[in-house]
Amino acid sequence: MGARKSTGAERSRLLSVFHSLLAAYGPQRWWPAETPFEVMVGAILTQNTAWTNVERAIARLKGHVPVDAEAIAGLPTESLAELLRPAGYFNVKARRLQRFCAAYLAAGGAEGLSAMETGALRGWLLAVHGVGPETADDILLYAFERPVFVVDAYTRRIFARLGCLRGEEGYEALRRTFEAVLDPDVALFNEYHALIVLHGKGVCRARPSCDACCLRGSCPYPDASGPKARPVRPRLSGPRR
Ligand code: SF4
Repeated sequence: MGARKSTGAERSRLLSVFHSLLAAYGPQRWWPAETPFEVMVGAILTQNTAWTNVERAIARLKGHVPVDAEAIAGLPTESLAELLRPAGYFNVKARRLQRFCAAYLAAGGAEGLSAMETGALRGWLLAVHGVGPETADDILLYAFERPVFVVDAYTRRIFARLGCLRGEEGYEALRRTFEAVLDPDVALFNEYHALIVLHGKGVCRARPSCDACCLRGSCPYPDASGPKARPVRPRLSGPRR
């Protein structure tokens, strides 16, 4: 990935992919949660597990306590772990969630954190033990409605196959690349990530179902267009520095 200035063609390409996905799947209206704090809980619990398991864990939690920082922090860790069992790694996740709740309360909760500028809030999230870049960005985008582009394995796979990325770029480089090419638009970033996840899970899987793909006509991946396959430009150039 170079450091040259991103182009209008790159922006058009990303928006074209977005609109194709949106037309194919419709708006997803993420995140599936009742409150911003529940988004944070879900983002922490979804690490290394399927979302259906997180839903089961959150349903069990809701059956016992309100999903808020005071209630979760006040539970005995063993009891919380038992409630979180469906999410996997439940002992680790119980400790991780309680550490997050303690930090959240110490920082003034939603009011204190909402007052922080996005870069500072991202730094705060990353300083909480167990919160990595993807989790932090899920929380920034879906709980705090900040224009941060969430990158995950599906993003990397789909856009590498589309010829937009090399695929081995680091997380921060990819995030900054998408943010440099697209306008800082919370609604766009919200839908785009949700559609990428849906497409990566259902169609552009490890073994892709190219015959069923709405992006097939512009995808140079070998299985996508058979003998007509050809590289698609532009590849994303990376953010301005
Ligand atoms: S055509 Fe195939 S490789 Fe390309 S994005 Fe669609 S599923 Fe993925």
